Amino acid sequence: MTVHLVGAGPGDPDLLTVKAARIIQRADVVVHDRLVDRRILALAPPWAEVIDVGKTPGRPSTTQVEINELLVLKSRNHDTVVRLKGGDPFVFGRGGEEAIVLRSAGVPVEEVPGISSALAGPAAAGIPVTMRGSSSGFTVVTAHSGDGGGPELDWRALARAGTTLIILMGAGRRAHIASTLIGHGMEPSTPVAAVTDATLPTQVTVRCRLDELAAVDVESPAAIVIGAVADLDVVGSPERLRSLVSHGGEA
Ligand code: SAH
Repeated sequence: MTVHLVGAGPGDPDLLTVKAARIIQRADVVVHDRLVDRRILALAPPWAEVIDVGKTPGRPSTTQVEINELLVLKSRNHDTVVRLKGGDPFVFGRGGEEAIVLRSAGVPVEEVPGISSALAGPAAAGIPVTMRGSSSGFTVVTAHSGDGGGPELDWRALARAGTTLIILMGAGRRAHIASTLIGHGMEPSTPVAAVTDATLPTQVTVRCRLDELAAVDVESPAAIVIGAVADLDVVGSPERLRSLVSHGGEA
């Protein structure tokens, strides 16, 4: 019957929505990506079939075509099929493509939004993506635009927007991102924060200037935040907040 495209949130299982938890608890089949926490998968009933279609190093990953076929097939024989994805299914999750394939095969689809790492990543490091006086908006992009996956980004516009720029899937391309933005006029001293494993116990935040981004270590998966607010940590230690206030008063 129905395939539910469900967002699993950024990592911390407590950031799953109540609606997502309820659907997983009555799933017949759960088809999930690699970044989904096993504590979330454990919500599925004991009889549910749980299928990992994520990329595991050293093992061939399931192709998108195979995933689409699997979802159509499972929906024919089961009431509740959950397609579980990290963050939000419609933010760089290929949820849109899967929904179109399923609908054209006559399969009913429901989307259950999840908390995207694009917002939870900065938040977990104490960074408000908008802030009176420093940022009137934000843009979320992938560093993998133009890879046959979509149109190339207008980096010139991004470099000059003056809002917060959030980059997903960018850790391995950070040198290219930094040089492209600087080449299009962004200040080399623009603050950057790269938040790896956001909301998990293994979370690491690296802060630097844009012109230092190539030289610092950033592990994947990371949400990279670029802009005036990337300097802030409004929920961190009082010492850190004090030092931010005394170094320019952004907070
Ligand atoms: N649909 C997901 C994004 C999928 S693309 C969402 O809405 O969050 C995968 C990218 O998401 C990663 O390369 C990384 O940039 C980001 N990401 C996912 N989980 C993350 C986490 N816990 N911490 C930081 N970034 C994360």
